[in-house]
Amino acid sequence: MNDDTQSMVSRCDATTCRFNEDMNCTAGQIEVSMSGQTAQCLTFAPADAMNESQSARADN
Ligand code: SF4
Repeated sequence: MNDDTQSMVSRCDATTCRFNEDMNCTAGQIEVSMSGQTAQCLTFAPADAMNESQSARADN
C-alpha cells in the first residue's frame, strides 16, 4: 500500500518560484539535485518570469 501520488516535495521555502503556492509545490513533477545535505530544485522558475519581457528597458 504505497500511495505515491504526492509530490516528493511536501513543503518548499522558495516562495519566489512560480510553482510555489503557500509553501506547497504545485509543479507535479520536479527535478531535484542533491549535493550533500542540500537539495536544489532544478525546476525552480521565478514567479515574475511572465512579466519579464523587455518592459524594464524603456530608455535605451
Ligand atoms: S518547483 Fe521546486 S522551487 Fe518551485 S515550488 Fe516546486 S520544489 Fe519549490
